[in-house]
Amino acid sequence: MLGAFGGEGLGHRPSAFLINDHTLLDGGTVSGALTVPEQLSIEQALISHSHLDHVAGLVYLTETLGFCETGAAVTISSVDPVVNTLRAGVFNNILWPDFTKIPHADVPVVKYRTLVDDVEQRVGDLWVTPIAVSHTVPTVGFIVHDGSTGLIYSGDTGPTSALWQAARGLRGLRAVILECAFPNRLGPLAAIAKHMTPSLIERELDKLAPEVPVWIFHVKPQFEEEIAEELGRVGSGRVSLLEQDRVYSI
Ligand SMILES: [Zn+2]
Ligand SMILES: [Zn+2]
Repeated sequence: MLGAFGGEGLGHRPSAFLINDHTLLDGGTVSGALTVPEQLSIEQALISHSHLDHVAGLVYLTETLGFCETGAAVTISSVDPVVNTLRAGVFNNILWPDFTKIPHADVPVVKYRTLVDDVEQRVGDLWVTPIAVSHTVPTVGFIVHDGSTGLIYSGDTGPTSALWQAARGLRGLRAVILECAFPNRLGPLAAIAKHMTPSLIERELDKLAPEVPVWIFHVKPQFEEEIAEELGRVGSGRVSLLEQDRVYSI
């Protein structure tokens, strides 16, 4: 758990996970959570959407990879609109250098891969299915599986159903990782920004297999205590907040 939050604060890093040492699941923070050797072992980055709290860490990761000159490279994978935004809006030689040409176009630090919606495909040593969710920009959640166990990752989303339907009957499902951004009193803002509140999460639980634990990330740092208290009343022990810097096994 590299970054557990939907923003940045003292001790609060934006959303990112590292799976099995080699695959980033979103990249809101990377270099602020990993040593240089750990960063060099990253090979894949699965990106849910283009918002900065999910991609900002990629820009410093690319510098780490570029400066070390070890030949290390990261393949940034997502659906077409997300890849296009990263290419045209971030690594565009204006906001940040185009690392698909650095140090050389033949051996770049960044490669892009466009994933097909709703199809399970191989990414590194994992099986990944991107499913569109409900957010203010094109966004996917991911079903991630290693052949025996798997998890569902919501990305940023308001209430949704396709992701939960796609995961129905999934073998070895061990966790649902679901976002929560705002406390209940900011429900109207959550509706506009297409995010979850604890009371919205309570309704999502009815759509999920009852035995699977639900792990929450992406709390906005300024609402951490308020959301934790409200989540404590949801799901009778089934819902828990993910802790930054902790290693989780499924
Ligand atoms: Zn976010
Ligand atoms: Zn977002």
